[in-house]
Amino acid sequence: MDRQSIAARLRALLGDGAVLTAPEDFARYRADSAMRAADGIACVVRPADTAEVARVVVACRDAGMPVVPRGGGTGYAGGSLPLPGQHAVVLSLERLRRIRAVDPVGNVLVAEAGCTLHEVREAAAGAGRTVGLDHGGAGTSMIGGNLATNAGGNNVVRYGMAREQVLGVEAVLADGTVLGPPAALPKCNAGYDLRHLILGSEGTLAVITAAALRMRPEAIGRETAILGLAAPEQAIALFVRARGALGEAISAFELMGRAGLDLHFAHTGAAREPFAERLPWYVLLECESTSRHFDLRAAFEELLAQALDQGVVRAGAIATSAAQRRAMWSLREGIVHAMGAASYHIVKTDTAVPVVRVPEFIERVAADCAARVPGCVPVAFGHIGDGNIHLNVLPPAGGGDAALRAAAGDMARAIEDIAVGLGGTVSAEHGIGQTKRAALARMRPARELDLMRAIKRAFDPQGVLNPGKILGAPAVGDHDHA
Ligand SMILES: Cc1cc2nc3c(=O)[nH]c(=O)nc-3n(C[C@H](O)[C@H](O)[C@H](O)COP(=O)(O)OP(=O)(O)OC[C@H]3O[C@@H](n4cnc5c(N)ncnc54)[C@H](O)[C@@H]3O)c2cc1C
Repeated sequence: MDRQSIAARLRALLGDGAVLTAPEDFARYRADSAMRAADGIACVVRPADTAEVARVVVACRDAGMPVVPRGGGTGYAGGSLPLPGQHAVVLSLERLRRIRAVDPVGNVLVAEAGCTLHEVREAAAGAGRTVGLDHGGAGTSMIGGNLATNAGGNNVVRYGMAREQVLGVEAVLADGTVLGPPAALPKCNAGYDLRHLILGSEGTLAVITAAALRMRPEAIGRETAILGLAAPEQAIALFVRARGALGEAISAFELMGRAGLDLHFAHTGAAREPFAERLPWYVLLECESTSRHFDLRAAFEELLAQALDQGVVRAGAIATSAAQRRAMWSLREGIVHAMGAASYHIVKTDTAVPVVRVPEFIERVAADCAARVPGCVPVAFGHIGDGNIHLNVLPPAGGGDAALRAAAGDMARAIEDIAVGLGGTVSAEHGIGQTKRAALARMRPARELDLMRAIKRAFDPQGVLNPGKILGAPAVGDHDHA
C-alpha cells in the first residue's frame, strides 16, 4: 500500500489530527541518539489510547505496512527508525501519557507508555517513593521505550535493569490483541512470563502501552563523592571496599577517564578540574539509605578516609550541597553530551565485561586501537559498578579523522570481540536495533538465534512489528556501528 492510502486509512480510523504526513512534520521522528533516517516514513500516527494503538496495528498488518514503534527517540541503536529502503508507519506513543494509578500500599505505579521517565519518577516522588531506573535521557525518553530497550543507567548497581522494575505490562500484539491490564503482583508463577519476552524486545514482539512498575522507598539520605585514582585497578579495589562497607547502599559507581573529561571540558569551554592535580581516572560514587537507623555519612566518610590512607584513591571530595552533587554528576553526564556532539567522527560501543575484568578490558582495547590507528584516543567511561564500560575512540589529536573513519568498523568489531572474549557482551544496555545486528549474530550461538527467530514468528508471523530489527540481515548500507 502506498503512503497516501495508509495515511487515509489511519485518518479514517483515528481522525485527521492523529496522522502526520507532511515531510516537515517528520523532522522530530527522523533521528535517534545514534543515527538519522534518510527517508522511509510513510506517515507518523499518534494514537490516543490502547484501543487506538490496536486499530493502527491491525490496519497496518492488513495493508502489509511495517510498524515502527517510537517513544522519545533517544535510543542508541536506530530501533525507532525505518530501515534503509523500508517504508513504514511510525507509531508514536507520545499521546499515551497518563499516570493511571499510584498505590503506596502495594508500592505499584501504573504509567502509560508515553510518560517520560522523568514524569514517572516525579509521580513516584509525589507518593514518597522512587522507581529504580534513572539515566541521562530521563527527560525525553519514555517509559515504553525504556522498557522496550530494557534500559540500564546509573542505578543498576542498586536496583537492576529496567525489567527488574516491572511487575506487569499492557501490550498490543501484532494481531491487535491487547495483553493486559498490567499485573500488579510481585509474585505470579502462572506459566511462561510473557512480560520478560516483551521487555527488551525493542518493539519487535509487541507495542507496550502501559506498565505496572515497582516503587521503592525514597532515599532519606544520600552521599556523593568524586575520587581521583591512578588506574582502573584502583576503581575495582575501591568497589570491593565500598561493597564491604556500604553493601546495597551503593546506588552509582561510575568511571570517568581523563580523555572523556578533557573532551567534556573542550566541549563546554570550561575546565572544571575536580582536584588541583590532574589525575588519569575518576570514580563518581553515590550511596543512598532509606533507614533512619543507618548513619550513611559516617560509613561513607570512614570508607573514603581508609581508601585515601591506604593509597587506593589519590584524592577525594564529598558533596556537601545539592549544587556540589549536581556539579559532580555534570562531569559524568558531560562526557555523554560531548560524545554526542563529536559522534560523527568517533567509534562508539556499549560493551560490558565482568566487573573484575574491566582493567584488563581497558588495557587490551587501548593496545589494539593504538596498533590500528596510532595516536587515536580510547575513551573509557560508564557504569563500572556493573561492568558496562562504553569504550569509544576519538581521532588522533590534530586530525586523523579519515584514518579513524577508515578503521572504525574493524576497530569497533575488535573492541566488541575483546569484550565477548572476556565473558562480556556487545550490547549492555542500548540494545541491537538496526546498528548492532551483525554484532549480535557474531556473539550468539546459531541455536539461540534460531530460538529468537521462532519467538518472533510466534508473536508476529507476518512481520508487522519493527521487522528487520534485532534479527534481520543487515541491509545494504547498514553501518553496524553508528
Ligand atoms: C543523554 C542520554 C543519556 C542516556 N543514558 C542512558 C543510560 O545510561 N542507559 C541506557 O540504557 N540508555 C541511556 N540512554 C538511551 C535511551 O534513553 C534509552 O535507550 C531509552 O530506553 C530509549 O527510550 P525512548 O523512549 O527514547 O525509545 P526510542 O528511542 O523511541 O525507541 C527505542 C526502541 O524501543 C522501541 N519502542 C519505543 N517505544 C516502544 C513501545 N511503547 N513499545 C514497544 N517498543 C517501543 C522502538 O521501536 C526502538 O526499537 C541515554 C540517552 C541519552 C540521550
